[in-house]
Amino acid sequence: MAKKENPFAGLGLDTQAVHTGTDYDEGTGAVRRPLHMANSYRLPDDLSKVNYSSTDLLMYARNGNPNQHWLEEKIAALHGAQDAIVLASGVGALHALFWTLLKTGDRVVYPKVSYMAVYRMFHELFNRKFGVETVMVDMTNLEEVKAAVTPGTRLVHIETPDNPTVGITDIAAVAEIAHRNGALLSVDNTFASPLNQRPLQLGADFVVEALTKFINGHGDAQGGAIISNDLDTMDRIRYEAQVNVGAVISPFNAWQIFRGSVTFPLRMRQINRTAQTVAEWLARRENVTFVAYPGLADDPGHQLAVRQMQEGFGGVISFGVAADDHTVERFCAALKVVTFAVSLGHDESLIFPQPSYDERILLYPEKFRDGFLRFSVGLENPEDIIADLDQALRQVGL
Ligand SMILES: *Cc1c(COP(=O)(O)O)cnc(C)c1O
Repeated sequence: MAKKENPFAGLGLDTQAVHTGTDYDEGTGAVRRPLHMANSYRLPDDLSKVNYSSTDLLMYARNGNPNQHWLEEKIAALHGAQDAIVLASGVGALHALFWTLLKTGDRVVYPKVSYMAVYRMFHELFNRKFGVETVMVDMTNLEEVKAAVTPGTRLVHIETPDNPTVGITDIAAVAEIAHRNGALLSVDNTFASPLNQRPLQLGADFVVEALTKFINGHGDAQGGAIISNDLDTMDRIRYEAQVNVGAVISPFNAWQIFRGSVTFPLRMRQINRTAQTVAEWLARRENVTFVAYPGLADDPGHQLAVRQMQEGFGGVISFGVAADDHTVERFCAALKVVTFAVSLGHDESLIFPQPSYDERILLYPEKFRDGFLRFSVGLENPEDIIADLDQALRQVGL
């Protein structure tokens, strides 16, 4: 895609969220752009110049559609970046990036604590299927990172705050280690969102956002984005992964996420505030064994988060309760305001217990090994969320 000038460049994040990618519909003058649910587009009379693997010409839905392109303009603007590629899911975006950058014999350094699909891709798929050398490290320990990122390493991938332990990695320091060794740095920014953290400005080469989460924010559409200023590699991702592997987003989902993203800064600020209030309450509550949230002054990631996160610390809190798996499940089932379901970043609060039999639990810091819950704060009144957590804890004797 040839990038258009963003007429709102330089204006504030809220203004960009409202206006970038939006325009009058040329056909009707409608103040909203239409939803184009079309698989094909009228070809030019002269076919000699058509490249069927290109994303420049609207031709076939897998090569791109207008709703995807308008959302790409908005997501790029939220990161102050030159380009974004929007695909069918967060994992589709992660895969598109890894698939394009990595080949047999390349070395990738990835985190001990990461999204489940990243763990699967590097722990058992890219290494066994394609002979990529995958090295797992504790990204919160810079000495370990330095030892693992050897000259010629192709890619370092991090997630901060990480899913599910909400640990903080030093983006600028890891970028420096990566670049000194000729490696690229990609950052999964889903937990922070672009309101709170913009990794490209801290030295990252690529950012991935699961649009499914806070940016859409309504729990009703799946999508993912790769954001970067490396325009040559972005074009390669379009060619190698979007057009020729095909995790393309439905125009309808792009339309929904576009609509959700308009109110994203407003919702995210509220979520930042409520999460801080709930985390402080949990930290005082008896029978809560630990609270992991970078906004808490005694959190191991707090100082670093204050430096690299701008407006707040995000909407995900992890905490532990002094109980076995069965009691933790009964606690989740007893909640009335908070919904017992996977995912995060919805309008409603969501809670998900990490069972102690998950094979990844031994990779997490010790305190996360029993009675561990991941809690995504929603838009309900903070006092109602707190009262609900309290009543459900009491119901199971905690
Ligand atoms: C949810 C999530 C993803 C994946 O997004 P999907 O849209 O579910 O594929 C990736 N990274 C993080 C940190 C996530 O929380």
